[in-house]
Amino acid sequence: MVTRTAGVIGWPVTHSLSPVIHETWAQREGRAIRYERLAVEPDDAAFRDAIERLVREGWKGANVTLPHKERALAIADEASGEARAAGAANMLTFSGRAIRADNSDIIGFAQAVAEAGVKPSRALLLGAGGAARGVAIALERRLGVKNIVVANRTRARAEDVARLCGGAVVDWEARADALDGADLLVNATSLGMAEHDPLDIDLTRLSPGAAVADIVYVPLETPLLRAARAKGCTGIDGLAMLMHQAVPAYEAWLGATALVDAGLRARLEAALRLRSNP
Ligand code: NAP
Repeated sequence: MVTRTAGVIGWPVTHSLSPVIHETWAQREGRAIRYERLAVEPDDAAFRDAIERLVREGWKGANVTLPHKERALAIADEASGEARAAGAANMLTFSGRAIRADNSDIIGFAQAVAEAGVKPSRALLLGAGGAARGVAIALERRLGVKNIVVANRTRARAEDVARLCGGAVVDWEARADALDGADLLVNATSLGMAEHDPLDIDLTRLSPGAAVADIVYVPLETPLLRAARAKGCTGIDGLAMLMHQAVPAYEAWLGATALVDAGLRARLEAALRLRSNP
């Protein structure tokens, strides 16, 4: 029997790797699930209609991606403290007619860093968009980073993110200088993503003992990660965060354990290769 689980809601959503992750875990358990990509246009009423339909049809929940993460939080009856702090949710769980919102991007990022054996005490966070807000919360609340510095092209947004995590702000132009003494650099901008400009940062001041996390995962090895690894730094790619953010949803909706391992990574890397060389 097919377990009607959920899907991922976005606009566009054709690129989402979430179905591959959930289906890999379900196959391992010999379970047939339905996890769909649901394209919902960026409009409050369209989003509400889509969620109401899923609730009516008895789905377990939904992952939510751009540009609906704020709407996902707004529609929920109950939300985790982290989702409220981030102002966004990427995971909705339905029980009866009640909707709960979580932000598993925060958990995903923290797990990715912990899994790499990295215990940062001073981090430089680049970016101040939705993803950066989650990273800031993960750094402060889950990884216990005492010293967080935020740099973003639009300084006012960096100030908002710094307030979220008790961090300091440096100008975007001064980002390379802020690497002095940092043991973790995080790229949470969209720079380095395929079809975007690369992230321009001189890594001279970064210690070879530091770690670099790039949450971009297309391409998997961004120019930033390549340069960091060439220097001897530990590199943490965006796929690690993506895999770990899916765990809470699978476990909550199917009541089963979800394992992030080399087999899952291989499936996702294959899916990414197929996408770039169809
Ligand atoms: P977003 O809200 O649109 O934020 C984009 C960020 O990039 C902002 O800080 C923006 O600065 C900065 N930026 C864009 N173009 C720039 C440029 N030319 N120069 C300097 N800064 C620039 O996007 P988001 O949702 O935070 O996502 C950011 C990235 O994270 C995306 O690549 C996304 O795929 C990735 N992501 C990965 C995962 C994962 O699981 N691995 C999860 C979520 C997101 P301004 O504020 O100045 O505009």
